[in-house]
Amino acid sequence: MPDYAITPPPPPTIPVRGGGAFPVRRVYCIGRNYAAHAIEMGHDPDREPPFFFQKNPDNLDPSGTFPYPAKSEDVHHEVELLVALGTGGRDIAVADALSHVWGYGICLDMTRRDLQGTAKKMGRPWEIGKAFERSAPVGPLHPVAGTGPLAEGRIELRVNGAVTQAGDLNQMIWKVPEMIAYLSEYFELAAGDVIMSGTPSGVGPVARGDVMAASIEGLGTLDVTVT
Ligand code: MN
Repeated sequence: MPDYAITPPPPPTIPVRGGGAFPVRRVYCIGRNYAAHAIEMGHDPDREPPFFFQKNPDNLDPSGTFPYPAKSEDVHHEVELLVALGTGGRDIAVADALSHVWGYGICLDMTRRDLQGTAKKMGRPWEIGKAFERSAPVGPLHPVAGTGPLAEGRIELRVNGAVTQAGDLNQMIWKVPEMIAYLSEYFELAAGDVIMSGTPSGVGPVARGDVMAASIEGLGTLDVTVT
């Protein structure tokens, strides 16, 4: 072991359903990947090339609580399918991409929408709106061995019992294998990388005390309380 100058931080992990922990290396997030959400955000849903931003691995939070972050008056929920990679590489073919998937989970891409909006207008990076502390509540990972590839199925978010977001995984503009292949042209993917695969329409604000119930067919439900 190297002679660390400071105590190394604990490696970020996502719990695995049935036991164990999945160590996370990088977090890639796709923008505008469901047509109805692209429209609600003021964009044309035609198949423009995909674009990605990143969150920090330690933004992932399996605790089931989401502390309302500082410096925002407009924090939005985005329910998403998380795809975890067990292997990686460069220039992965679409046809081979699913062989790199280790498992799937439910996650929330919590967003300081007001700060993201300002960043967009000024042509600035999105981290201030997207990559803050505990900005990615996440449920347990389900190994693909048990789920099979998830290409369709209802994805939904309820806030205090009322449905706010609803869609189907088959409505993704860029499918999971296409996202993996595309990312691998620009980055070297590796075991431990995770992809947040975009959100269906119906994003909206949360308030302290709200209970978010995120569900994806085959993966159960993730309950997160805003504190
Ligand atoms: Mn998102």
